[in-house]
Amino acid sequence: MNVILLEHPRSISADRCNDIANAPLSACLNTGYIGGMLAANNIPITIVDAYLEHLDYPAIEAQIAAQLPTILGIHLVYHWKDNQTLYQFIEHVKQTYGIAHICVYGFYPTFAYEEILNRCPAIDSAVLGEAELTFLTLAKNYPAIPDSGMAIRSVNGIVATRGEVVIDIDALPFPLRSVGSYSFGEVNISGSRGCYGGCTFCYINPYYGDTKRKWRGRSPENIIAEIDAVLKETDIRYFYFMDPNFYGPGRAGKERVLKLARLLKERQINFGIEARANDIEDETIKALVDAGLKHILIGLESGRDEALKRLNKLTTVEDNEQALRILRKYGIEPSVGFIMFEPDSTLEDLKVNYDFLMRNNLLEKLEISVNVLYHHMIILQGSASYKALQEQGRLNISPHSTYEADTDYQNPRVAMLSGMMRDMTNHIFSYMKDTWELSFNKDPVILEKYRLVNQLLVQTFEDYLYLLMHQQLSNDQRNSFVDTFIDTVDGIMA
Ligand code: SF4
Repeated sequence: MNVILLEHPRSISADRCNDIANAPLSACLNTGYIGGMLAANNIPITIVDAYLEHLDYPAIEAQIAAQLPTILGIHLVYHWKDNQTLYQFIEHVKQTYGIAHICVYGFYPTFAYEEILNRCPAIDSAVLGEAELTFLTLAKNYPAIPDSGMAIRSVNGIVATRGEVVIDIDALPFPLRSVGSYSFGEVNISGSRGCYGGCTFCYINPYYGDTKRKWRGRSPENIIAEIDAVLKETDIRYFYFMDPNFYGPGRAGKERVLKLARLLKERQINFGIEARANDIEDETIKALVDAGLKHILIGLESGRDEALKRLNKLTTVEDNEQALRILRKYGIEPSVGFIMFEPDSTLEDLKVNYDFLMRNNLLEKLEISVNVLYHHMIILQGSASYKALQEQGRLNISPHSTYEADTDYQNPRVAMLSGMMRDMTNHIFSYMKDTWELSFNKDPVILEKYRLVNQLLVQTFEDYLYLLMHQQLSNDQRNSFVDTFIDTVDGIMA
């Protein structure tokens, strides 16, 4: 028995570059955690990280040919289109190298296992939710197949049964990290799983499938033991907690953060986290900044209470503004998650959102404006909004996959502004991907160009929002406005 775990190559779709990833960051250690579990149980395991190590399919095939794995596990990530190239590769290697079992795992297979098993006959099973326990059972007992935790084919069609979740995350072996894990200047680490929130657009909790313990945290001591082990392996001193929600709930959650901050401080490292606005308060942020916190992503999502309620964010605009004030007080300028366009947005919602962003100085940098002025609500299988819109008959499932859907905006003028912003921000992104490094290094010429494009983008949003509040535009007018914007950006960036 030997196992290869594959992170397959990923492509970036030009017209989806402004859409947040369809595999949350918290999935990035899926493979490492399965690898750690198998290694701790003496099952020979090789991780082939084609994504971070930029390996192409012939290079992956060479590793498969050399190892001849009994089981090939693949962290399957959706590409905003059909994964045909990958499926053809899977068919090819299974046949050529006689791989006994191919098993996929991750967010995409958890929710779209049916179409994956139907589209790629060479895939034998899909793990549902977190994969360590199920994968270990598979590898230990193969050719017996676990009777839960997987979707498999049977004589009665595809059968899917949820498995057990890991209750004590401290009991898991640390994730195995490949060379690729150290290739981008920071180390991803997981301090917790799940979230005590329940936003309609999010499928973190349906993925983990544990309704009793929605947020499961590791102890500070266990996290620090992993950090100490990593510090012995690498010179990198920046860690990013990829937890969907760094804070646990209530007083206990706060105490845990304070204890972790005390231990982190002794390591003299820097780190980043992701958190909910309602958890941002003085004592923990002060302690975290003191311990090396440099970056934080908070999901503000909206500047209007009615919209926050629709999204079941369980926060208020006041929570959002307070979080910004506290973070800035301690010198942290946060990255923010913001859904400008949601299916039921009104033009008034957009105006209130715009005023919120302006009042809170969130439109001063192109890197932020280009995101917050456009993001629409992504509707992925597994989320509450996917289910609700389906029940209302409003869900438009993508021709590529059941995993991805959208819906028609209730308000046609909101739909028009969303489409315009999409075209305009995608054009800006096409420049930013080539100039990102210059801007990161604060090149004065590029910074000035970014400043001018930012000014143009913010003004354009405001102008067209006010125009649409007073009149409908024809498609010809809309296209001509977008073309003018694009020409002006081209002039600035030339
Ligand atoms: S706060 Fe909302 S979006 Fe963020 S992880 Fe929790 S449920 Fe998901």
